[in-house]
Order: sequence, then structure tokens, then C-alpha cells
Amino acid sequence: MNAGFTPIARCWVCDGDRLAPLHDALFDLHEYATQDPPLAEYTGASIAIVRCRVCGFAQPAALPSLPRYFDRMYDQRWSDDWIRSEHEATYKDAVFADVLSGLDARLPRDRRRLLDVGAHAGRFIAAARRAGWNAEGLELNPKTGAFAAAATGAIVHQGNVHTFDVGGRYDAVALTDVLEHIPEPRAVLRRARGYLAPGGWIAVKVPNGPAQRLKERVRALVRRKYRPTLADNLVHVNHFTPSALARALDREGFSDITVVAGAPEFPERGSSARVRQLVFLPARHVPGAVHTPLALNLQAYGRRD
Ligand SMILES: [Zn+2]
Repeated sequence: MNAGFTPIARCWVCDGDRLAPLHDALFDLHEYATQDPPLAEYTGASIAIVRCRVCGFAQPAALPSLPRYFDRMYDQRWSDDWIRSEHEATYKDAVFADVLSGLDARLPRDRRRLLDVGAHAGRFIAAARRAGWNAEGLELNPKTGAFAAAATGAIVHQGNVHTFDVGGRYDAVALTDVLEHIPEPRAVLRRARGYLAPGGWIAVKVPNGPAQRLKERVRALVRRKYRPTLADNLVHVNHFTPSALARALDREGFSDITVVAGAPEFPERGSSARVRQLVFLPARHVPGAVHTPLALNLQAYGRRD
């Protein structure tokens, strides 16, 4: 028997209570059978992902009651070689360059103190430092965080947004592929806002929920026996639309909010890079296209007044 689930009655973005089932997230944590048996007990369970009828945001109908479920699920003992390969991998470079240019355009040259929340192996920090930013990181995993610090020469704080408390001293805070993983995303944005000095900017990149859903459905139609996976093991808990992301930032007091199509990742091998670029360019540049399935990712900015 697993430790059960705790229902969530209201939308994390708008507090609405009309939540309709979209699809099911399945749990398969059997690889933790030895390392963490209570976690592995969730294998075979499923939970509905529900969509808010008011704001369009989607989230789980319930969360595992097991204490520290997410920390335990992410407690992977990554090898040194894997961490190094993540630091050297180029697949996210277009995303990182896009985030840095978006922040550069919004801040004067003398405001370059940047915090990367979820610094991972430090590749973004390295790119930021090359571009002239005084970049630091915040990373939950002590091993990747230590690697990021050693590889970049930057300060990488160990912890998460709920434990890290510095006061408003950064000019920019970046959350790239982070916010979709943490329950109660507005609490994360609230903490991130607290890290910013007045006039500082947040940059948030997340997958576009409806577009990713459609992509998975199309894939399932094309490939026999393919099951759409969007939230298995609750790896993704937050499924934003462009307007739900703008609303979450607005509710947390950010101003001058913009949401555009986010730059894609480019796999190091294969021919899909051209296709991704062909989809991204109109999604970014055609008015209104951010609200279509062409926008597979969302990039948002907001200012702390
Ligand atoms: Zn809502």
C-alpha cells in the first residue's frame, strides 16, 4: 500500500474550484524498490490532471501524501560523467541565449546581477558570465551544484526557493524549465520576486501545456502503442497556458508582463532541428501565435516595481 494522496480543491493560479479531468498521470517508481520502498509503493497508482475552467491552468487533482515526495523522486545519484556531459551539452543553448537577450533588452548595462534558479550543471551560468552577467545559481542537488560552481567559478547556493532567503539583491532571476516541476507555482514566483531588487526582471520558461498535450496526442495517433506521457510520476505538475502564466505573474505583483513563444531545444543529433526552427519562428513572430499549438514553449518576463 502507498501512503495515499492529498486532494487539491482549488486552482493554484486563480483559486477557482471548477476543475475538470483532462487525462491521467501514471506512477511507475519501481526502480526505487531498494533505495526508497515507500516511494516505490506508488507504482501502479494514477491521478487525474485537471483543468481549471476559469483560467485554463492544469494541475494534479491530488498530490502524494508521502512526505518529501518530490525531493525523494529527484534524489537521483547522478554520475560525475553524466553531470559533466550535461554541462557540455549544447541542446539548450538557443534557450539560454534567448533568455539572456530578453533580460539584456530590459535592463541597463550596469545592472547585471543574475540568479539562475535550478542551476543544474551550470551551463546557463557559464553562458551568462561570458555575456557579461555577474551570475550566481541556486541548485537543490548538492552534487550538480558543486560541479556548476567548480566549472564556472560562480557562487552556486545549495537549496531550493523555499529555503533560500537573501533579500532583494538581484537584477534578474531566471527560472528555465523549473516552474513546471514545483507544486503551488505562485509561491515559487513570490519567492523569486523577493530575490529581485526594485526594477529587476524575472524570466520564466515553461512548456506550453495545451500545445504539448496536442503534440503527444498526435504522436499517439502516428505511432502505434505510444501512450501520451505528460505528467507521469508527476514530473510535470504545472501545465500553463500563456494567459495562465501571465495571470500567475500578475497575481504575484509583477508588472509589464510579456509572454511569447519560447525558444526550442535542439537535439544534438537528428534532423528535427530544422523542423523545430520552422515551427518556432512563426510562433514567436506572428501576432497571436503564442496562443496556438505552434508555441510548444512559453517565455515570460515580468518586472518588480
Ligand atoms: Zn484557475
